[in-house]
Amino acid sequence: MRKLAIPAIATLMVTLAAAPATAGGGGHGHHPESSKRLREAVTVSGVRDHLKAFQKIADRNDDNRASGTPGYAASAAYVKKTLQRAGYRVTEQKFVFPFYEELAPAQLTRVSPAGAAYETDTYDFSGSGDVTGQVVPALNNVLPPTPEPSSTAGCAATDFAPASATAPQIALVQRGGCDFIVKATNAKAAGYDAVIIFNEGQPGRQDLAAGTLGGPFDLPVVALSFADGSALAAAAAAGVVTLRVQTSTFIDPEAVTSNIIADSRGGDPNRVLVVGAHLDSVVEGPGINDNGSGSATILEIAEQVSKLKVKTNQKLRFAFWGAEEAGLLGSEHYVANLTEAQRATIYANLNFDMVGSPNYVRFVYDGDGSDTGTAGPAGSGEIESVFTDYFTSQGLASDPTAFDGRSDYGPFIAVGIPAGGLFSGAEGVKTEEQAQEYGGTAGEAYDPCYHQACDDISNISNRALSELGDAAAHAVWTVGRLKGPLASPAVPAGAGSGAAAGGGAHGHPAS
Ligand SMILES: [Zn+2]
Repeated sequence: MRKLAIPAIATLMVTLAAAPATAGGGGHGHHPESSKRLREAVTVSGVRDHLKAFQKIADRNDDNRASGTPGYAASAAYVKKTLQRAGYRVTEQKFVFPFYEELAPAQLTRVSPAGAAYETDTYDFSGSGDVTGQVVPALNNVLPPTPEPSSTAGCAATDFAPASATAPQIALVQRGGCDFIVKATNAKAAGYDAVIIFNEGQPGRQDLAAGTLGGPFDLPVVALSFADGSALAAAAAAGVVTLRVQTSTFIDPEAVTSNIIADSRGGDPNRVLVVGAHLDSVVEGPGINDNGSGSATILEIAEQVSKLKVKTNQKLRFAFWGAEEAGLLGSEHYVANLTEAQRATIYANLNFDMVGSPNYVRFVYDGDGSDTGTAGPAGSGEIESVFTDYFTSQGLASDPTAFDGRSDYGPFIAVGIPAGGLFSGAEGVKTEEQAQEYGGTAGEAYDPCYHQACDDISNISNRALSELGDAAAHAVWTVGRLKGPLASPAVPAGAGSGAAAGGGAHGHPAS
């Protein structure tokens, strides 16, 4: 569903924004009232220059820019230098986090009765290991599955029969009801040597889909599709089935990474607009769209705001988050380390995570929850309107996207700070209707290279960069210059309305 209705504040802004170009100096045509100059200064070629720098960095550092690796450190140094040169006060906020990397694909083979190898995948933060043993299903797997998700298999220690003390055994447990780490921990406590988690079985929960354990774990944990998992459970109930599980992973529980935080010289330090984008990639690839596109866009906006000496009422704080792919760890570290007084100075958060998807859609976070049912803290609806009304003023449609906490605005809305932002699409599939509106290919992912080695400099739509880049510049300018409260003053911790910071970063779910 597209946005058509135009609320008051944004209407005023857009009228001002739209008028100047056409009005040519009459009525509201003076530059100080429009984001136009900034939008024109933020060019695709300016953003691409930063993307090229990120690509070069990945080329020189094992093809990735993941937090905890030299590729991230070089990306952070590049951003820091660029912002210092543009006159910002830059700090590097270092923090410790658990680094995880899969070194070789997991293997799951049937030893007896002999059979084909299973299609499987490693859970993030699974330990390394090579275990051959009897498969023992959890006592409360729900088979056949209920129409709606209901399984709580393995969520209680008593859900696993005590494992053999003399021979290795492998637990087989169904997804649902609690985080994967809870199931794995209970299986380990019952004495199992490896864990297989299979999808629950309802539509959309049937494929092979490994998640994250959220932190270091020392046993092998691998995934199975519902079909394979339920068939295996039936076979194991009917007789002894022996499998071999092999995983190869590297975990550094105390890796170090950082956030780069850059404050504008001007603006009210008691009304800070945090403009954020994560700077890290996954280890699997250079992350030029996810999220080189977002960090390059806000970097270019920061440069042009400085070059044009744009005056804002709010102090602008450009934030480049580390370890987003490890579970929003950089933005969570930042918010968690704010004092109550510091938190109260944060006026709002704007987040840009993927704005260059090759098969893109102009997604705007549904701040008021009108389309997706999950509203952000008061003020988030106003931010949403700044974006949607800007697109309307340019004759461009936009689609709402859920405020599900799957990116770095999550920690902000979790403490009641209003937020908003843009997204061009990841693993989701473009609809026929969207293809008609946005072009591109229906039935294909918005970003077919999402979280893969091919998310490189060739995996970017310049049209997406241009349209979402301009909207981002317009929002920084508009929200940065607002007088008075957004809707209501930033509410103290815990008073946030409804929206919870959901599972890990977009990508591997925690449950
Ligand atoms: Zn991302």
